[in-house]
Amino acid sequence: MSAVIPIAADTGCSTAPVLRERGQREVFCGLTGIVWLHRKIQDAFFLVVGSRTCAHLIQSAAGVMIFAEPRFATAIIDDRDLAGIADANEELDRVVSKLLSRRPDIKMLFLVGSCPSEVIKLDLATAAERLSRQFLPNVRVLNYSGSGIETTFTQGEDACLASLVPQLPAEDDDAAPGLMIVGCLPDVVEDQFARYLRAMGIERLSFFPPRSSRALPTLGKNTRYLLVQPFLAETARALEERGAQRIAAPFPFGVEGTTEWLRAAAQSFGLDAQRFEQVTMPARERATKALERQREWLQGRSIFFFPDSQLEVPLARFLSRELGMQLTEVGTPYLHRDHLQQELEMLPAGITLSEGQDVEKQLDRCRAHAPDIVVCGLGLANPLEADGITTKWSIELVFSPVHGYEQAADLAELFARPLRRRSLLTQEATCS
Ligand code: SF4
Repeated sequence: MSAVIPIAADTGCSTAPVLRERGQREVFCGLTGIVWLHRKIQDAFFLVVGSRTCAHLIQSAAGVMIFAEPRFATAIIDDRDLAGIADANEELDRVVSKLLSRRPDIKMLFLVGSCPSEVIKLDLATAAERLSRQFLPNVRVLNYSGSGIETTFTQGEDACLASLVPQLPAEDDDAAPGLMIVGCLPDVVEDQFARYLRAMGIERLSFFPPRSSRALPTLGKNTRYLLVQPFLAETARALEERGAQRIAAPFPFGVEGTTEWLRAAAQSFGLDAQRFEQVTMPARERATKALERQREWLQGRSIFFFPDSQLEVPLARFLSRELGMQLTEVGTPYLHRDHLQQELEMLPAGITLSEGQDVEKQLDRCRAHAPDIVVCGLGLANPLEADGITTKWSIELVFSPVHGYEQAADLAELFARPLRRRSLLTQEATCS
């Protein structure tokens, strides 16, 4: 752990001024979340009620499955719906009935709102209630919005999980305290966390969302929850309205983040500190060693974050403290101070923290910094690469398994690889 700067008594960036911008933004919409949500809840189906643009976005982001029945689709709102000639609710009921009669494997159906469905004011909440009455107990129908108006792409997961919270069964009032891990994780990462948490001594453990819609975890005032993603503000609010208590912690990215996240759980449940060290130390040592290779590439390199995934602050903390990168500007679409408190305390002072976006002004600041690597959305990556600036697509950080000890080196590699590629290209250009 020698490369990790100990958590200092000072407040890092927690009281630093934040540059707030409300101008033109370059972000994806919340429909993108379907890509990882449909893989997680394996008996759920996501029906986007949207336009052909929405269908193209989701198909190109998720890929078209040839050998498996897909678990997402788009009910296209066409000209007749827009002109009010057809009754959009009748059309929707017809599409849903056809889908569910053909696919008995679907146990939960999400109607996902989009910009077009919001523009024509299609009331998907009422539609979901109506369809649930028709199809329960076989299929529960829920709704949330993935619209791109005033949102960013990770909010799709937040909206989806928040819509699911009211469905969680109530736990008994006298239940022993239990831990709920909140946020989509690849199954392999979920299994790793479950092993550590159980070995530390946590007996009542659940993950939300679950892999099956028939295995929803119970919820109540004896539920303590840990977030795995920093973009779950609505979900957290919905959980707390039902009595759950958040365990404040950094996010489990990198060795330090994962250790402090697990430690927060251990302390909340009063678990034995020595046992915590025994359970986590071998993995901490392995992961720290695995980071050495990427540190060679990343140490001393400068990085600039455009706001996109909402992972920016925890990633900046990881790259700065465990890999020695120099932070310039850390931009995030929304800065949720409560959820990011521990992260902000660990950021070095003197960097620019920004919230929201005015893309032209931010591009000017980025060019002035001339960073070694920029983290940004797809829309900005090509123009920046054309300017000779190395980029990392932020969306890849959400699609890849990056949480926990075993993935720490893979996460660092996502930043080291573009730098290596740029170095090779520069060498080739010099040789020729
Ligand atoms: S929801 Fe809105 S932003 Fe997203 S693909 Fe559809 S039209 Fe575009």
